[in-house]
Amino acid sequence: MFKKILVANRGEIAIRVMRAAKELGVKTVAVYSEADKDAPHVQYADEAFPIGPAQSTLSYLHIPNIINAAVHTGAEAIHPGYGFLSENDHFARICETWGLAFIGPPATAIQQMGVKAGARKLMAEAGVPVVPGTDGTVSDVEEAKRVADSIGYPVLVKASFGGGGRGIRIVQDAEGLADALERASREAKSAFGQGDVYLEKYLINPRHIEIQVLADKHGNVVTLGERESSLQRRRQKVLEEAPSAAMTPDLRARMSEAAARAAKAVHYESAGTLEFLLDSSGAFYFMEMNTRVQVEHPCTESITGVDIVKEQLRVAAGLPLSITQDQVEFRGWSVECRINAEDPQLQFRPSPGTVTTWKEPGGPWVRVDAAAQAGYEVQPYYDSLLAKLVTWGRDREEAIERMARALDEFQVEGVKTTIGMHQQLMADPEFRRGNIHINFLAERFKGA
Ligand code: ADP
Ligand code: ADP
Ligand code: MG
Repeated sequence: MFKKILVANRGEIAIRVMRAAKELGVKTVAVYSEADKDAPHVQYADEAFPIGPAQSTLSYLHIPNIINAAVHTGAEAIHPGYGFLSENDHFARICETWGLAFIGPPATAIQQMGVKAGARKLMAEAGVPVVPGTDGTVSDVEEAKRVADSIGYPVLVKASFGGGGRGIRIVQDAEGLADALERASREAKSAFGQGDVYLEKYLINPRHIEIQVLADKHGNVVTLGERESSLQRRRQKVLEEAPSAAMTPDLRARMSEAAARAAKAVHYESAGTLEFLLDSSGAFYFMEMNTRVQVEHPCTESITGVDIVKEQLRVAAGLPLSITQDQVEFRGWSVECRINAEDPQLQFRPSPGTVTTWKEPGGPWVRVDAAAQAGYEVQPYYDSLLAKLVTWGRDREEAIERMARALDEFQVEGVKTTIGMHQQLMADPEFRRGNIHINFLAERFKGA
């Protein structure tokens, strides 16, 4: 195992990674921007190193400063967390060049899955069902029209390099197509530096179901079941759970098999997630792979007892996974609520400011992954996730009741949060019955 690692991230995920490191006896180096010099992740680490101004392009995304920090502090490996440099194959390669292990998949796997249009093709070739759409990217309007006619409207124009729910545009009919292609491409170019787009059939009210995979350098691939992430606001996840209320043992077996096949097709290593859409007929389709640890990984940890981040560290150090597929057992239900600093009254606009009161819930089977405290400044530069509140119960109902109780205990003042929205959700009869889909939240909450 490594002696020391650097965590190239901030907030709750930086602390999450350092906790895993600590349990493995690995020393940690935090990096921080000028805005974060007193941030909780800096306080948690064994050492900390400044990497530049608040703006993330000059700090958390600035590769030379991060490599410098790792070399200077004698770290042997870098964990990128999620967001920032986690799905940047150049970064993974540069780490290797400097003799630093990248705690994530091989650069080639990141690259193959990161180009979403190419990933669709690769998955189709591997026999994984993909959402009907174009074979690759489209630039030609006539070709796009042909494909859209054959799959049927509405269709989505998606940025091949998109992520975080951005770069997706819905087109209702042939008339809107040319304009949507052109705008989507222009937006993608400015947001992701790359204007390639592709078409996908727009599925009506499907569920978002994803499969967690782990793979090591010894050819072992293990799947840890599904999470449901259907509750989204503007295509960004808000609440996740594991397992899914829509799942059957047969469907789980088929989705897990497809996920393992997908991972093997790109010679995957480390933790990764295959995202699928499940339609009302029970058919599922590959959407994308997130080649990194996901925000909602704790739900899976809660029902399997597997520490996903520790497995990532083991794999990067060349050790085999600590579990085999036979040893994976599911127990009970887990729900995660993302507590964001956002104002539900103002279309969920980010709500930066100073946290004046911070009192976390506790008690049995309640997990809080957070990086805030009283006096903490919520920065406008970074994403608005303040905490992840995760509960476990013997069944879905108990996990939800426990979540309702924990949300009532959670006190945050000084900034607006999504706690109230989650409280409403816990009381929602349709949610309680498990009748959810990707547009459920928008139907329930104005501005969502
Ligand atoms: P991102 O990289 O931004 O996460 P995804 O391809 O995973 O992009 O899509 C984000 C979300 O958009 C999905 O979770 C789903 O809610 C919605 N979505 C994506 N593709 C489709 C589709 N073909 N039909 C309906 N909804 C979709
Ligand atoms: P998860 O699939 O782990 O739930 P999210 O889609 O919520 O992940 O993304 C995790 C974090 O990474 C979020 O903070 C999101 O804003 C950010 N993110 C992911 N992909 C991109 C991207 N291509 N550009 C900008 N931010 C991104
Ligand atoms: Mg996605």
